[in-house]
Amino acid sequence: MTLFSFSSHELDFIDDDEFHEECGVVGIWTTQDAASLTALGLHALQHRGQEASGIVTYDGNQFHTHRGLGLVGEVFDDPRVIASLPGGMGIGHNRYATTGETQLRNVQPLYGDFEFGGFAVAHNGNLTNAQLLKQSLVRRGCLFQSSTDSEVFIHLIAISLYSNVIDRFIDAIKQVQGAYSLVALSKDMLIAARDPLGVRPLILGKLPYSQDENSWVVASETCALSSMGADFVRDIEPGEVIIIDHDGVRSIHPFADNTSSRFCIFEYVYFARPDSVIENKSVYMARKKIGAELAKESHVEADVVVPVPDSGVPAAIGYAEASNIPFELGIIRSHYIGRTFIEPTDQIRNLGVKLKHATNRAVISGKRVILIDDSIVRGTTSKKIVEMVRAAGATEVHLRIASPPTQHSCFYGIDTPAEEKLLAHTHSIDEMCKLIGADSLGFVSADGLYRALQEDKRNNQNPQYCDACFTGDYPIPLTDHDMQLVKSK
Ligand code: SF4
Repeated sequence: MTLFSFSSHELDFIDDDEFHEECGVVGIWTTQDAASLTALGLHALQHRGQEASGIVTYDGNQFHTHRGLGLVGEVFDDPRVIASLPGGMGIGHNRYATTGETQLRNVQPLYGDFEFGGFAVAHNGNLTNAQLLKQSLVRRGCLFQSSTDSEVFIHLIAISLYSNVIDRFIDAIKQVQGAYSLVALSKDMLIAARDPLGVRPLILGKLPYSQDENSWVVASETCALSSMGADFVRDIEPGEVIIIDHDGVRSIHPFADNTSSRFCIFEYVYFARPDSVIENKSVYMARKKIGAELAKESHVEADVVVPVPDSGVPAAIGYAEASNIPFELGIIRSHYIGRTFIEPTDQIRNLGVKLKHATNRAVISGKRVILIDDSIVRGTTSKKIVEMVRAAGATEVHLRIASPPTQHSCFYGIDTPAEEKLLAHTHSIDEMCKLIGADSLGFVSADGLYRALQEDKRNNQNPQYCDACFTGDYPIPLTDHDMQLVKSK
């Protein structure tokens, strides 16, 4: 058997039936060693992007950059790499390629030399008018080096007629549409910004052990703070721009109407790490509550509740507690697929999901099983897992999903297939159940999901979250898509 080393894109035959996280960002403002801290933060945010990673630091005299393809531990594995990134200020980025192919030139942070000095930008999310802006920038003579939409920020800042960095930055973000959490570094300041609806997460933290009182962290999720020993200060608000410089932290709200928030509800369902806290809500507890709502809404008599690991675990615990049915780890997930594995022959491809999941016959055989998963994308994984559970001796398999049916694509930074490839877009629940081969299939309702997040129910006039992949109610215009400037996957 041949041993091969291959990239996560080459593993798409395993992973193309999952939503993929977008990206993670970190920013550090302290006195020294920003690169090590940034790498620790990026490591904690690895679940948000596994294809590439990069750090830019500033040491008071010059900027330093290192970017590479692979996991954080691979890109920053050599201590000489961190040593080559001196300075107390830095920004970093983990990439999952939602726009632009995976090539080194697309790896963030992006850096440019401007008339005011060096400037680096990294962002998480997706701009929905990037192609339109790019067309206009190219007509004005801008030369794009990458195919990622993040470069649009660089050119908008470069051509802005304002004189200072902040005004140029605000001029740029006022021209973009989309979902973004953004970190940027100039020689004088660290800037962090969230889009006006706060679709993607971004938090502010403080480094307590630093010699300097004025030591700050910004990151996509609170789990990054734990890895650095930093304290949580607060969520950065929708539409807020935070400026950190030698005078401390300043906050500005450049958007006139930034009162409503439409945070991505799917961060609670699947994307965020369970130990993170978003909007004062523990992601883990939110997932348990979603499981409890699911149990209330689609109860079925059974012997055991089994999660599809890893993301189905908290919801399954919540389901089991609410239904008084024992929770068991009936499926074991391998965490070691991805770097070196057997040659992907057709035979291996056909094994598909079995590379990643194995059944634990001891807790499944002869039982009526409730399987809990976070979502159904194309349905191929669900079908194979149901088959595996039956093959392990389950007498009944009831599939319960801790989110409403995913009927629509995401254009705000989550990698989803085109609508027509989403099983729930083309099939009724009964048809899906038949196709997947389960004895029954149930989804938590949108109202159940909102209740789990401590809302009464979805406010249809003024929804509290972005839930467009369930409802089709897109809160930010899809300019490029509507003008057919982006291709469907
Ligand atoms: S469309 Fe879905 S995945 Fe995308 S931001 Fe909205 S809720 Fe999140």
